[in-house]
Amino acid sequence: MLVVESLIARYGAVEALHGVSLEVGAGEAVAIVGPNGAGKTTLMRSISGLVRLASGSVKFEGREIGRTAPFRVARLGISHVPEGRAILSTLSVKDNLLMGGHRLPRAEVDARLAEMLELFPFLGRRLDSFGGVLSGGEQQMLAIARGLMARPRLLMIDEPSMGLAPRVVGDVLDALHRVVATGTSVLIAEQNAGLALEVASRAYVMVVGDVVASGKSADLEDKLIETYLA
Ligand code: ATP
Repeated sequence: MLVVESLIARYGAVEALHGVSLEVGAGEAVAIVGPNGAGKTTLMRSISGLVRLASGSVKFEGREIGRTAPFRVARLGISHVPEGRAILSTLSVKDNLLMGGHRLPRAEVDARLAEMLELFPFLGRRLDSFGGVLSGGEQQMLAIARGLMARPRLLMIDEPSMGLAPRVVGDVLDALHRVVATGTSVLIAEQNAGLALEVASRAYVMVVGDVVASGKSADLEDKLIETYLA
């Protein structure tokens, strides 16, 4: 479904990705794990068109999207839940969700909203609350639900556990399991390798702009310990 090949991305003179390749199959949950500064966010931003590729390619469902504007990438079926969630804090929970579904045919909006409330029941009790008054974990789940509103075929979630207490991380983990069970392809970037590997069946380990290991989540534990200790 998603094929990234030899992707190089730069910020001015600094090369942040040195030729990264990665694949996500239909219905698959894949993780990108690695420490701070590994390039996980840059990789996601390159896929969604927010960072310009210096070279390499990004194909989605067979179509080259490597130099496509972010709004077009979203229309093609990729939702990106950014690091920091980007909840619209002065809009209600319901309006945040409706923003995510603004391109759905009018007749489908209510049904999709109902599906999101089934997947994240607490949102139904908070529909009229401002986004900004939700807890960190609730905001993360709202951001995920907002991303899903558009019925993406690939959902990219950057650092869903960031800034969350361990108990709340458990709630987000449960939510991610439910999302994966819907059959949507999911790509998760995480420093919290434990969380990511629990959700994803395959993972890529990144260190300073390179993929240093990849494979089934269950087989990557030793490589991860080595990476994190280093
Ligand atoms: P984190 O977990 O901290 O978000 P990450 O793995 O997502 O880390 P990136 O944020 O993609 O890593 O950063 C990769 C490299 O690119 C780092 O060296 C970072 O300093 C650099 N970088 C990121 N954004 C910019 C920017 N806007 N301008 C210049 N350099 C940047």
